[in-house]
Amino acid sequence: MICPSCEGIGVIFLPFSPKIKTLPCTRCNGLKEVPEEMKVWMENGELLKSRRIDKRFTLRKAAKFLNIDVTELSNMERGVIEPNLNIQYYLIKVITQ
Ligand SMILES: [Zn+2]
Repeated sequence: MICPSCEGIGVIFLPFSPKIKTLPCTRCNGLKEVPEEMKVWMENGELLKSRRIDKRFTLRKAAKFLNIDVTELSNMERGVIEPNLNIQYYLIKVITQ
């Protein structure tokens, strides 16, 4: 499917820079398309994020709680990588209790 982050142009524009700068899209790595299953990753990631925010966990605190890297959790929430099912279990069942 067409990359939802760059909308299929392969680059993202950096805001707030004096000149217009672009970077290769971090979601599709400039490939302009992403695997179909990424749609599901993104939906699951949004669920993780909303659960975490409901519980007033910062990204850093949640990552520490789960003993994973902040970047990894951030990527899961953004659907850049497939959310780990155990992580989902923790966020939904443990943190939200
Ligand atoms: Zn992209």
